[in-house]
Amino acid sequence: MEHLYLDAASAEPVGTDVINAMMPFLTEAYANPMSVHGAGKTAARALEAARGSIAADLGARPDDVILTSGGTEADNLAIKGIAMARMRLLREAYGEQVRPRVIVSSIEHPAVLESARWMERWFGCEVVEIPVDHQAHIDVDALREELAQGILADGSDGAAGMSAKPRNSALLVSAMLANNEVGTVEPVDEIARIAHEYGVPLHVDAVQAVGLIPIRMREWDVDALSLSGHKFGAPKGLGALLLRSRVPVEPLMSGGGQERSLRSGTQNVAGAVALAVALRDADVKMRDAWRRLAASRDRLIDAVLRVEPRAQLTGDPQRRLPGHASFVFPGLSGEALLVDLDARGIACSSGSACAVGRHEAPGTLLAMGYEPAVAKSAIRMTFREPLAPEQINWVASVVEESCATLRGASEVSDPSINIQVQRAAA
Ligand code: PLP
Repeated sequence: MEHLYLDAASAEPVGTDVINAMMPFLTEAYANPMSVHGAGKTAARALEAARGSIAADLGARPDDVILTSGGTEADNLAIKGIAMARMRLLREAYGEQVRPRVIVSSIEHPAVLESARWMERWFGCEVVEIPVDHQAHIDVDALREELAQGILADGSDGAAGMSAKPRNSALLVSAMLANNEVGTVEPVDEIARIAHEYGVPLHVDAVQAVGLIPIRMREWDVDALSLSGHKFGAPKGLGALLLRSRVPVEPLMSGGGQERSLRSGTQNVAGAVALAVALRDADVKMRDAWRRLAASRDRLIDAVLRVEPRAQLTGDPQRRLPGHASFVFPGLSGEALLVDLDARGIACSSGSACAVGRHEAPGTLLAMGYEPAVAKSAIRMTFREPLAPEQINWVASVVEESCATLRGASEVSDPSINIQVQRAAA
């Protein structure tokens, strides 16, 4: 039986050059990079070289890079860390009379949304969700209006969160670069400009975009940016938060003071090397194959919509990640379709990996205005290598068969039809 892995947005394989590059730091140069002996210095040099390489590939500076255990930790550090530090400044300047706010887009990953809600639960912050349109574009006018409502003082420094006296009751804005469920790419440079007009820092979750879209963290004037290694060919459990030193942050992990005292704990040198090598490889691949990847995405979308006219593409048809095709199949269960496609050899996802198993409608699609029943029919196909025309035709034919089977089954399980079937059989 043929097999095709179309779930790259959940996890990617680790390349042999990544494994080869990290191995010496597990077996030979294994010393603690904080140790003062020569072996420690060797490890520390490798760590700093990796940090420099990661920074260079993302348009950041080496000391922006805070290594973490993945995207979730990076998001938590950004949201909780910045919000707590700026809340202290807010309290010092205005006392208890100002209610702090955390502004997030309504399509953020749970790592962001739940971190914002944690700030609400423990610190009484108000969480404001900025709406999106039917293609998942963040409503930048609504963001501007929200920020305008929080003005506390005039200020012209234009900088994000630097002033000891915050100018706005918003502690930070968080907006993702590319959505994990529908692939829509957001204008984070414009969002950064708007946030900074009001003196508020911007965090960007770029977990899905790194390795697929060129990242220019400083050029876009983003204050904090999260990434996760296993989305671009590094092992799971590795990530980073790129964080400008101008932004106040409270560490979540206290200890020996590693990573600018913002993430204590012995650094994973082999992991940092793996992140750097995987990122460099992904960057080379992106330059080489971006057009082919996007073209095969468009052909796959056309093919699926042709064989299954009731299906609809979700997200922006153009301004979306290359290698990201997402659909709803109204009338069908995404969960059932996912299982059936898997049995026929196609591994894909019914939304975000984290939503699988919860049987909830994907949050992004609900925020985009889809009815819960339609949102539950979502299927996401993601890949980082261009698909061959034969592969696309095969996927389309499997989707057609699978939909026909499931529609047949759901019609037979409709009680009124069952009675007709029984009568016909009698
Ligand atoms: N943010 C987004 C947009 C994601 O898609 C994911 C994971 O899929 C995460 C954050 C969490 O990253 P990690 O699994 O590395 O914790």
